[in-house]
Amino acid sequence: MSDVLSTSLQYVKGVGPRRAADLARVGLLTVEDFLLRFPLRYENRADVRAIGSLRPGQVATVIGDVVTSGVRTTRRPGFRLFELVVKDASGPVRAVFPNQSFLRDIFHPGARVVLYGALEFRGSSGMQFTNPDYEVLHDPADGEERDESIHAGRIVPIYEKAGSVTPRMQRTLIHRLIGELPPELADPLPEAIRVARQLPDRRRAIAETHFPAEGTDIGALNASGTPAQQRLIFEEFFLFQAGLIVRKRRHAGEKKGRAVVVDDRIRESARRVLPFRLTNGQKTALREIVTDMQRPEPMNRLLQGDVGAGKTIVALLAALVAMENRLQVAFMAPTEILADQHYLTIRRLLDKSSFRIASLTGSITASRRKEVLAELKSGTIHLVVGTHALAEQAVGFHELGLVVIDEQHRFGVLQRATLRGKGANPDVLVMTATPIPRTLALTAYGDLDVSVIRELPPGRLPMTTVAKAESRRDEVYRLARKELDAGRQVYVIYPLVEDSEKVDLRAATAMADHLRVEVFPEFSVGLLHGRLKQDEKDRVMSAFARGDIHILVSTTVVEVGVDVANATLMIVEHAERFGLSQLHQLRGRVGRGAHASTCVLLYQPPLGDAGKARLDALVSTTDGFDIAERDLALRGPGDFFGTRQSGLPTLRVGDLMRDHQLMEEARRDAVAWLDTGGAEPLLKYLSSNWATRFGLVEVG
Ligand code: ADP
Ligand code: MG
Repeated sequence: MSDVLSTSLQYVKGVGPRRAADLARVGLLTVEDFLLRFPLRYENRADVRAIGSLRPGQVATVIGDVVTSGVRTTRRPGFRLFELVVKDASGPVRAVFPNQSFLRDIFHPGARVVLYGALEFRGSSGMQFTNPDYEVLHDPADGEERDESIHAGRIVPIYEKAGSVTPRMQRTLIHRLIGELPPELADPLPEAIRVARQLPDRRRAIAETHFPAEGTDIGALNASGTPAQQRLIFEEFFLFQAGLIVRKRRHAGEKKGRAVVVDDRIRESARRVLPFRLTNGQKTALREIVTDMQRPEPMNRLLQGDVGAGKTIVALLAALVAMENRLQVAFMAPTEILADQHYLTIRRLLDKSSFRIASLTGSITASRRKEVLAELKSGTIHLVVGTHALAEQAVGFHELGLVVIDEQHRFGVLQRATLRGKGANPDVLVMTATPIPRTLALTAYGDLDVSVIRELPPGRLPMTTVAKAESRRDEVYRLARKELDAGRQVYVIYPLVEDSEKVDLRAATAMADHLRVEVFPEFSVGLLHGRLKQDEKDRVMSAFARGDIHILVSTTVVEVGVDVANATLMIVEHAERFGLSQLHQLRGRVGRGAHASTCVLLYQPPLGDAGKARLDALVSTTDGFDIAERDLALRGPGDFFGTRQSGLPTLRVGDLMRDHQLMEEARRDAVAWLDTGGAEPLLKYLSSNWATRFGLVEVG
C-alpha cells in the first residue's frame, strides 16, 4: 500500500536538509510521524479585541493595518529592535521584536496583520506587545489575500519544540503538508468500522486535529476528546491491537517439543505434595495452566494474584506435571533471597518424591555451578530454581518443558525470550504479584493469556495500615514492644535509593544499632541488605524465619515473596520515598499468619500532594487491584513498570489511562475484523508502518 503519509520528511519540498536532520533527531522522520502527533495544547486566539480596549497584562489578539515599521539600533552594541505600529479603528498599538531585522521584509506599510501576545504598558509609548505571534493577512505589495490564518486569529495548535524547529515553523510546515494531502487518503481503518463508529475520514481528522474549525470546544481539544482526535486515537489503538493479535496467532501456530499428558498417577502424585486444600481461585488457575500444557501449542500465560494469594503452590503443581512427563522445569526469581526461598519451599514439598532439584544463582561456587550445568544438560536435574543466572548462555537443558518466571515486572522481555529459547518452544508461566490493571494487561501483555487468583487463602486476619508522622515514633515503638512481648516479630524497612546507597546503608545500620542498644535491648535485632554476602543474607533470613531474630531491619530486599508468618508488624521508615505498588508489596510481608497485623508508614512531613495520595490509598484499601489502578493514575504507565522493563508501546496520540475505554473497544473491533478474514491490507499496513515501532517485528 503506497501511502503519502509514510513519505520521509527529507523528500518533502521546503524541508531543508538541516531541518530534516533536526526533525529526524527527535524521531519525526516521516510525514506520518509529523501529522499523526497531537499538538501539546491548543490556544484560543480567535477573539479579536479592539486595540483601544486593551489593558496591560492582557493576552489578546488584534487585527490592524501596519502604520510604520523599521529597525531601530539601541544603546546596546549589536542589539537591534524591529518596531511595528499597527492601528485599527479604535487606535494604535506598538509591537517590538528584538533582533529580528528580517521582519522588515515581512511587514510592509499598509499590510493587514494579526498579532497575538501579552500586553505591557510602556509609559509614553503606550501599550506594547513584545515578540507577539503574528501573521500577514493581506499585503498590498503582492496583492495576495490569505484565505486562512495559521498563527493567530483562530484556535492555534502549540507544538513541542523539535530540535531547532520552533513551534511556529512546525505549524507552518504542518499546514502546508495538510494542504498537499490528496483529498482521498488511504485509510488503514476498515471502511465498515469507520462507518459503524461514525468516525470522520482520515484526511479530515488530521486537518481538524491540527487546525480545528472555528467554534470547536477548546476544553475538548485539550482533553483530546474531539471526534477528529478520537478517530486518530482509535486508529492507533486498533492497529496496535491488530498487531498484537496477529503476533499471538502466529505463536499459536507454533508447536512445542512435547505436550504433557495427565493421568491418575500424576493426579495422585500432586495430591501427595499438597499441604493444604487449594482455594477455588487456585484450582481454576491450575486447571487453566494444565489445560494449556496439554495442548500442542506452547503456553504463554500470566498468573496474577495479590501478595499472599498462593501463586507458588500453583506453579509447583504445574512443575510437577511437567516433571512427571519427564520434562525439565526452570523457575526464575528476581532476587537471590527469593530464589533461595522458592528453592527451600520446593525442596521441602518435593522431599518424598524422586525428583532432583537444584538452585543456580550468581553466588554459588564455580565447581558447584559446573556440576549443576552438567546435570541440567544431561537431564538428571529435573527442576532448577535460580535468578537471571538461568538466562545465561552457558545454561542448557536436556529437555526443558516449562519455564516459570516469578515477579515478571522485574525482568525484561528479553530475559523471558532468552530463557524460553533454551527449550523447544517450552510452556511459559509468568507470575506477578503486582496486580496489573486490566487496561495495561491488555496492552503490555496483550499476547499472554491471563489467569487471576483473587481471594486469599482462608484464615488470614485483616491487616491494618496507618500513616504516622516521624514525630510520633514513640507510639510506634510502644506498639512494637507489645507485639514483641506477645512473641511476635517485627520488620523495620529502610528505603535504599540507588544514588546514595552508602548513605542509606549507613542510616539503616545506625537504625539497627539504635534499636538494639537503646530501644529494645532485651530483643535480638538483625540487619539485612543487598550488600551482604549471600551466606550472610541466608544466615540472617533463616534466623528471622526461625524466630531467633525478633526485629529485622532491612532494605527493600525483602520486598518480594519472603514469607515469615510470625511477623505481625512492619514499620516502614521514610514511607514518602516509596512508590505505591512497592509499599503494597512490602506490607504483604506481614499478615501471612494467624495473627492480626499492622503496617505503620512513618513519614517525614511535609508530604507533597502525591505523597499524601499514596499514603491515603494504602490506608484506605488492601485490594491490590485497586492499589494498582491508583498507582497507575498517580504515576502513569511508563513509571508503573519502570522504563527499563516496560513492555509498553510508545503511543503517539493515545493515552492508556485517559483512553482505556477506547482501547478495549479497539481490541474488540480488531478481533472481530481479523476473524472476518478481511485482514490482508491491514497486515500489509502493519508490517510496513508499525512493525518496528511496537516491537511487532514478527508481524507481516
Ligand atoms: P504469593 O502468591 O504471594 O507468591 P505464596 O505462594 O508465597 O503467595 O503463598 C503465601 C502463603 O500462603 C504461603 O505460606 C503458602 O504456603 C500459603 N498458602 C498458599 N495457598 C494456600 C491455601 N490454599 N491454603 C492455605 N495456605 C496457603
Ligand atoms: Mg510469590
